[in-house]
Amino acid sequence: MENVIVVDVQTTETKIMFTCSGDRAGELFRGPATIEYSFDIGDVPAQDVVFCLLAPLAVTVFGEERVRLEFNRPVTRAAIGYFTLFHLLDTVYVAEDSISDEENWTFSKNNGEVVAHLYGGGKDSLAAYGMLDEIYPDAEHHLLRLHWSPYGAEKHQKAFDEGALKFLPEKFAKNYFWARSDLHKQLRTWDNCNCWHMALYFAIFLPYVLKFAPRTMNFAYDALEYYDPVRDPAKPFRFRRGHPVTTELFEQYYRTLGADTRITDISFGITPNAHFRIVARRYPELFNAMYMCEGTDERWCGFCQKCFQFIIYCLANSIRPEGFPTEILFKEGNRGAKVAELLESGETNKLLPTICAPIHFEAVRSMLQNLDLELAKECFPDHWQVFEKLRDAVAGNYEPRYLGVWKRALDYALPPLLARGVGTICMEAGVDVFDRVDIERQVGNERWVYDWK
Ligand SMILES: [Zn+2]
Repeated sequence: MENVIVVDVQTTETKIMFTCSGDRAGELFRGPATIEYSFDIGDVPAQDVVFCLLAPLAVTVFGEERVRLEFNRPVTRAAIGYFTLFHLLDTVYVAEDSISDEENWTFSKNNGEVVAHLYGGGKDSLAAYGMLDEIYPDAEHHLLRLHWSPYGAEKHQKAFDEGALKFLPEKFAKNYFWARSDLHKQLRTWDNCNCWHMALYFAIFLPYVLKFAPRTMNFAYDALEYYDPVRDPAKPFRFRRGHPVTTELFEQYYRTLGADTRITDISFGITPNAHFRIVARRYPELFNAMYMCEGTDERWCGFCQKCFQFIIYCLANSIRPEGFPTEILFKEGNRGAKVAELLESGETNKLLPTICAPIHFEAVRSMLQNLDLELAKECFPDHWQVFEKLRDAVAGNYEPRYLGVWKRALDYALPPLLARGVGTICMEAGVDVFDRVDIERQVGNERWVYDWK
């Protein structure tokens, strides 16, 4: 059984639109989907962008069945090669007359150094901005952000623009390039968007790379969450999360098209709490720009897990949650109130899943062990005991260990940048990434020694 999906891709100066047809196309999308840009996208292989979205989605929906994709404009062989390798897609293929060997795309020439930040808005991307600004002080820093949300892309964008952008340094905020998409709205099943992960960002920002040719493009998603680089046999995809191999594949893809852009992930080796501490201690002027909430109506909603986690990060690091309306956290139905109810009813096994994703259980447990209860009393005079009880209910002996992953980070991902810049910044911010062990690394022609004092 072979499914045929016919894809019609259209572009305007600032939009990519696509429609799928074929007997079972309706199982992928409800209707035409659009990706809109804040800049003129010019002559861009829009079909590459669409291929990257369709191929993993088709595998998710059709499983083992073969899927033939036919495009009205040819997809580059480079995109098919790299994205297929990234996902290990073996049932989806592109019709031969829908493939192009075109590699001569026109890239702008940038005179100065441009560092592009794929920007989420939370502690990880904020720490990455602080560090890269410190490491490349003379570069022009560009903020790239994708707005898409089940709550609506416009709302998502408005929340970011009003809740985070205005708190960022002017020199960063003025170079704000966004893409906005109704993909969530058009997807037949929202959960299927999980199949896109990092590839989504690299595909959608291809027009930006073509136009601005940044020297460096950094992403700060996922951080330490990619301990597990190997394909999970139970999942159809090779990488569930970011990984140095991801950056390499996308860098090769951009290079094949002619872009001289280096993709970096300086978050490799830095835990979520370390990101928070780097911002709070080394870049306190950026702290107010930390945007973690998943709601779209207010700066902080008090309902989502991220709001609760922000408070845990603050209390674990003795930092006052400036700007957070503390009274909302324990309002009926909100996250703090839910935690209090679970403690009351003794359903302690539901506590961790209520406040964070499984991948963060250990990190959150370790932070809870370091809660500043005096600060909790000051900030939550009526509810501070909830934090104490939560800590006791989920207590564990977990102690975060960094050394293993940092050794890997130095060997794997951008040794000079990590060794000379990020590692030093972490150490100076009091983040002991080497577990008090002295280590040495050969970085290019230099021998780099970290000695923990
Ligand atoms: Zn929230």
